[in-house]
Amino acid sequence: MNNCITTSIFDIFKTGPGPSSSHTIGPMKAALLFRDAMAKLSLNSTGESLEIDVHLFGSLSLTGKGHGTHKAILGGLLGWEPESCDCNLLSRLLEETEKIYEIPFNPKAKTKPLETKPAKTQFIKFTSHHIHFEKVGAKQLPFDGAKQLPFSNTLTFKLSQGNQLLLEKEYYSIGGGFIQCKGEIEQERERPPHAYGNMNQLRKILRKTGLTLSQVILENEQALTGKSKKQIYEGLDNIIGAMCTSVERGLLTDGVLPGPIGLLRKARILMENSHHMKQETGRFLAMLNAYAMAASEENAAGQRVVTAPTSGSAGVMPGVIYLLTHQYHLSREQLREGMLAAAAIAFIAKKNASISGAEVGCQGEVGVASSMAAAFMTYALEGPVKKVENAAEIALEHQLGMTCDPVGGYVQIPCIERNAVGAVTAVNAYILAEAGDPARQKITFDEVVETMMETGQDMCTRYKETALGGLAVCCVSC
Ligand code: SF4
Repeated sequence: MNNCITTSIFDIFKTGPGPSSSHTIGPMKAALLFRDAMAKLSLNSTGESLEIDVHLFGSLSLTGKGHGTHKAILGGLLGWEPESCDCNLLSRLLEETEKIYEIPFNPKAKTKPLETKPAKTQFIKFTSHHIHFEKVGAKQLPFDGAKQLPFSNTLTFKLSQGNQLLLEKEYYSIGGGFIQCKGEIEQERERPPHAYGNMNQLRKILRKTGLTLSQVILENEQALTGKSKKQIYEGLDNIIGAMCTSVERGLLTDGVLPGPIGLLRKARILMENSHHMKQETGRFLAMLNAYAMAASEENAAGQRVVTAPTSGSAGVMPGVIYLLTHQYHLSREQLREGMLAAAAIAFIAKKNASISGAEVGCQGEVGVASSMAAAFMTYALEGPVKKVENAAEIALEHQLGMTCDPVGGYVQIPCIERNAVGAVTAVNAYILAEAGDPARQKITFDEVVETMMETGQDMCTRYKETALGGLAVCCVSC
């Protein structure tokens, strides 16, 4: 089969600084790619200084400041990686508009033919004035004369020396921290042994081979990445560990989140309240909400989180995983199996629709996260695959049409509470799927994913991470 899913589990689950995979991690990765491209250049010694200009379009322009896009870009140009950068240092970048940062530029060809010494490092002076938030949406922007930019989250980098343009790149941040570069064809991964493009095809593979869902995902991952089963399990354990750490850090932290809204963190208070609740159900819900909000507040604070499938929705899966680890006492094996099922849901949603709020609204972020968490819970608790599909479908079905309207362009309102609600929906979807007869389920997961895509395409652009509609404009007191 052509056009099958070749996404790796660790493309979906990756660590990076909050608050947004498409507006923070993606742009940082684009800046790192530009840095690599720059390093391949030959430079004439004209004596004129070098300059880098970055232009942001569409959603990146409209909500980039609140999402820390400018800081992430500078971090990437400085060579900082999403998985290892110091999040506190990152959050302090470009706080002073006039501060000059020095970006190293060291072209290989600068040395003379017989010179053995490495070229002296040249630095490019960079300030906040070199990042331009363009006041036009990508869709309206005539680029290269006539063409329109294909994605809302578009960014361009230009390196020049005097009047001479030395290098220009156009990148698209397509959600979940994934980046595409204009004119560059992504290196295709090998076709996996169990090739599928949607849930229907995955179901047929399971029937035909007699393998379990986790076996299929695992064997594909081994073939796609060349990793051993042991390495994949270690990677999954690290990801689960990072998710739980984000919950625990959030539960220990008080105070106001960064930005002009002045939003107070609530997870720790919620957790404390849960200890005093007399009724078991209230306590259970308060804890689940607290876990999801704790990770989501850490994301809003620009701390390290795990994309699942995005940073904006980075509280849903950790909330459910923390619950299952601490209340249901799941084994390590069950947690790993659940993660593999959740990855399958994310692969299919990304392949056939989108996981970008700028493309399809929040249904593609918290909606898909909730669907992944429902699949995780059902599979980890040893539910059959049909029930896993049903749980994933139910969770997404009830979040169809959900818009993305972050107040002030900050990933705080409605995002943080929405993560908590997404986690609760996931558990509810598991309960509903458990009670249903899988053979009589009327809507398939493929159908709900297709509907999400159609709904996203019909959705007015104002509701797709622009902060121009919905709560973003009705909240006058923020
Ligand atoms: S509303 Fe949803 S999609 Fe939009 S920024 Fe918040 S979490 Fe992300």
